[in-house]
Amino acid sequence: RAAEEPEPGFSDLGLSPEMLDSLRRARYVTPSPIQAAVIPEALDGNDVIGQAKTGTGKTAAFGIPLIEMLEERGKGPQALILAPTRELAQQIVAELEKLAINHDVAICAVYGGQPIDKQLRALQRGVDIVVGTPGRVIDHIRRGSLYLGDVVHVVLDEADRMLDIGFRPDIEKILRRVPDPHQTLLLSATIDPEIRRLADTYMFEPVELLLSKDEPSAETVNQFYVTVDQDRKTELLLHLLRKEKPTQCIVFTRTKRGADRLAARINRVVKGVATIHGDLPQTARDKVMKAFRSGEIPVLVATDVVGRGIDVTGISHVINYDIPEDPENYVHRIGRTGRMGRNGVAYLFVTPEQGEPLTNIELLMNRTIPPLPLDDFVAHDP
Ligand code: ADP
Ligand code: MG
Repeated sequence: RAAEEPEPGFSDLGLSPEMLDSLRRARYVTPSPIQAAVIPEALDGNDVIGQAKTGTGKTAAFGIPLIEMLEERGKGPQALILAPTRELAQQIVAELEKLAINHDVAICAVYGGQPIDKQLRALQRGVDIVVGTPGRVIDHIRRGSLYLGDVVHVVLDEADRMLDIGFRPDIEKILRRVPDPHQTLLLSATIDPEIRRLADTYMFEPVELLLSKDEPSAETVNQFYVTVDQDRKTELLLHLLRKEKPTQCIVFTRTKRGADRLAARINRVVKGVATIHGDLPQTARDKVMKAFRSGEIPVLVATDVVGRGIDVTGISHVINYDIPEDPENYVHRIGRTGRMGRNGVAYLFVTPEQGEPLTNIELLMNRTIPPLPLDDFVAHDP
């Protein structure tokens, strides 16, 4: 597109009046760049690889054309969306329901940790779109409760994350069940050789829409690090919470037990603290996410289980209480704030011994992270 041409609006993308109305109601005024790029290609029936940073609206980039392309309801699902985590599957369902208020579409989430009967009943009633985590989708295929013979659209959301988790064999098992011809849409914050191999095998001449290849960082996030002694971390956290009064914040710890311990400690001082990690039963995870989304919980202490994809508008601060073991996770953690052009703040706690992991993060981010000026708190006695 030439520079002088105006930015496309949703009405330039070939969408139905019903969809344009849904978008108005969702207060989506202009398409994000990845949406403007992906929607027309997907509507044309192409396989698409879409890459854009986290928080740029990739869910609607595939959700809008998907809902537009659905045919009259048949027996089994017409679309299958695979996502890496339960929370993401739920979030996708919520976003699709918002986009489909003017369409007659039944959407069902299938993921582990939830009693399978409820999902079985929903599938039996008939669904158009199934959103699931790979493991649970395979469960349903084995039980005969999920028939993929009518599927004509497949979406691999957060493909990088799914491969990282080790879902590749499961994904391949599922994709082999989907009859040809079908359309595949792959969305990812990063595209690496492993994703390319998956695309080479399972996609047909995909259109590649890579919007921010070399930019891992969210530049709407103001990043700082603080050198802090291990035994001063909790006090520093409390100091920052008091001083900055975040609208909402996620505090990332390295371990599940660390998350529980920290939450118990700050609970005495701060109101509305909850934890989320992989050892909690799914019902508890659902309850916490719901309360966090509604703003009821201002401080969420979490492991990397919510490090990716999760989108909660109120998150003003991300605090890396423990430095992430993998620098990649830093990018994902801080991407929970500063979404869709909003601003956010990210702090990284670094003990005096952690100079090297800090440097590795800076190398990956391709920028130096400045120290946070702290005149009213002694975090570390050199
Ligand atoms: P990604 O998958 O790229 O990380 P999401 O799909 O989670 O991003 O979207 C981020 C946020 O932006 C969500 O809250 C979503 O509802 C919102 N959003 C998406 N598209 C638009 C748009 N065109 N205008 C305004 N907000 C949007
Ligand atoms: Mg996403």
